[in-house]
Amino acid sequence: MEILPPVLAPTSLAAIEVEGLTKLYDSFTAVSELSFAVRPGEVMGLVGPNGAGKTTTLRCISGIIPPTRGSVKICGNDLAKNPVEAKQQIAFFSDEPRLFDYLTVQQHLEFTARIYQVANAHEIGQQLLEELEIADKADKLPGELSRGMKQKLAIACGFLHSPKVIFLDEPLTGLDPIGIRRMKNSILKRARDGAAIILSSHLLHLLEEVCSHVLILKTGQKIFDGTLNEVRQKFSQQSADASLEEVFLRATEETKA
Ligand code: ATP
Repeated sequence: MEILPPVLAPTSLAAIEVEGLTKLYDSFTAVSELSFAVRPGEVMGLVGPNGAGKTTTLRCISGIIPPTRGSVKICGNDLAKNPVEAKQQIAFFSDEPRLFDYLTVQQHLEFTARIYQVANAHEIGQQLLEELEIADKADKLPGELSRGMKQKLAIACGFLHSPKVIFLDEPLTGLDPIGIRRMKNSILKRARDGAAIILSSHLLHLLEEVCSHVLILKTGQKIFDGTLNEVRQKFSQQSADASLEEVFLRATEETKA
């Protein structure tokens, strides 16, 4: 199965606009003055060492926790002022899928469809279960699914309302090699359909295959954001085919205090 690069729409307005995002836990600054934008069709890899602030950033920009300062706009909707309109456009996938113990796979999709008022939910849900290869588990409860299958169910629920903005926090953990390949293709398909996507992962060689852009965070501060080519030019010392791993190591080394 071939992985195709995302089709970018360079003239589109940003679907995700973050300005001066700052998050303090008590007096500890986890994320500081972070600004960036992601346009429809772009897949941005959010990378950084442990504790850099990646999960905190994703939780703030999806409305799970409030930022201390700064603004987040989702498809033009201010997340603080119009949270429902903004959140209607979002799908957020955390590294630990959260499911309902007493709903089957099919009932998860029906419940999600009702909340998001999805037309054609049955048809879309069936397509998603087939795309993710869990259609044969439609009548199973989460307790009867493997970890990877639970993750796939969470993904099916998240994609059901055709979100324009997708956040994924370590989405490949727990998936088998075929599952990883399918997930990557699924991400690229949604980008080609016009979704703006942010993907946080430590698996840099995998990010390299799906991301058009990268944002490097370290101790809550942005070190760099731009296209994969731009980050290579800046941190790879003329080597145009340097891997993202080499670039990442150099970028985080160079910026040591
Ligand atoms: P990792 O790659 O290890 O998952 P991360 O880049 O996702 O790390 P975060 O989980 O966002 O990093 O954490 C950023 C910083 O904020 C860390 O120093 C962490 O200890 C701190 N932190 C995260 N959540 C909380 C919390 N609820 N209360 C206090 N401090 C927190």
